[in-house]
Amino acid sequence: MLSVYTKTIVKILDGKKIAEEIKLELKAEILEMGKNGMTPGLAVVLVGSDPASRIYVANKKRNCEEVGIKSASYELAENISQSKLMELISRLNDDENIHGILVQLPLPKHIETQKIIEAIDPRKDVDCFHPENAGRLLIGQSARNASRGDADGPRFLPCTPGGILELLKRSNIEVAGKDCVIVGRSNIVGKPLAALLINAGATVTVCHSRTRNLKEKTLRAEILIVATGKAGLISADMVQPGSAVIDVGINRMADGKLVGDVDFENVKNVASAISPVPGGVGPMTIAMLLKNTITAARNLSS
Ligand code: NAD
Repeated sequence: MLSVYTKTIVKILDGKKIAEEIKLELKAEILEMGKNGMTPGLAVVLVGSDPASRIYVANKKRNCEEVGIKSASYELAENISQSKLMELISRLNDDENIHGILVQLPLPKHIETQKIIEAIDPRKDVDCFHPENAGRLLIGQSARNASRGDADGPRFLPCTPGGILELLKRSNIEVAGKDCVIVGRSNIVGKPLAALLINAGATVTVCHSRTRNLKEKTLRAEILIVATGKAGLISADMVQPGSAVIDVGINRMADGKLVGDVDFENVKNVASAISPVPGGVGPMTIAMLLKNTITAARNLSS
């Protein structure tokens, strides 16, 4: 008997390439703004000398320069006091050449992170961590509100969740009506992403470290998004054949190699689309930060 063998060709969701396309669009936008005498400015605040944070901050600054955003960096000693840091935030809030303020997390243990986040002018909160912006995100009817700057919608989309939505959109993966499963419930990724996906019309399940029978949930996903920081958590038998898999995790292995939370080599034989690590969500996150800084500059000047 003749057997018919069909091999699925997996689509690699090339975040690096898509982010480059977005950056070209942003560069053109900034050139236009320059004609009206406006240059978006981003303040990047780094406290202490955590090596990973230093790399992230350098990367963000390099990307700003590439598109024409003016970045000002503030590298502060590990033992800076809460009040000194608050003073700096207050100065940046008042500085009209600064449109976005990014405080690189995590902050040292003696600093009350939430107070710092809440001290940032919500109009300059390009990370979208301020409770006012997080609340707007939850209420906002659709991601479209953000680009339109509607009062009832979010001002910005948080960078990583916004980057994931853009990666799906530009890869022609429809979200509306889909069963989406998110693994991870952090304030930075899982929770805001759940809000964004619901607003975009998806049916969303959020799993976390207390979830029982994770595999039963992940197998239901038409779109599976994983943000746990646990290398290899998602194996091929946990993935619905033909689904799209977005890997947010960044894990540095003993040999120095960066990997995600998904067993890429095996899952790519099951999924119809998968984002790699590195080169997937990471560059999209930075592209969204640049986009938010431009949005902030426009909103503040109008
Ligand atoms: P976090 O530590 O705040 O949250 C991790 C989440 O994973 C928690 O909600 C926890 O309940 C869940 N979890 C942990 N173990 C689990 C398990 N065995 N089963 C199910 N759920 C489990 O982390 P975060 O800030 O959301 O970041 C998650 C990962 O994403 C990290 O690797 C981080 O480096 C990466 N990240 C990447 C980007 C990017 O731009 N690519 C941005 C932010 C975070």
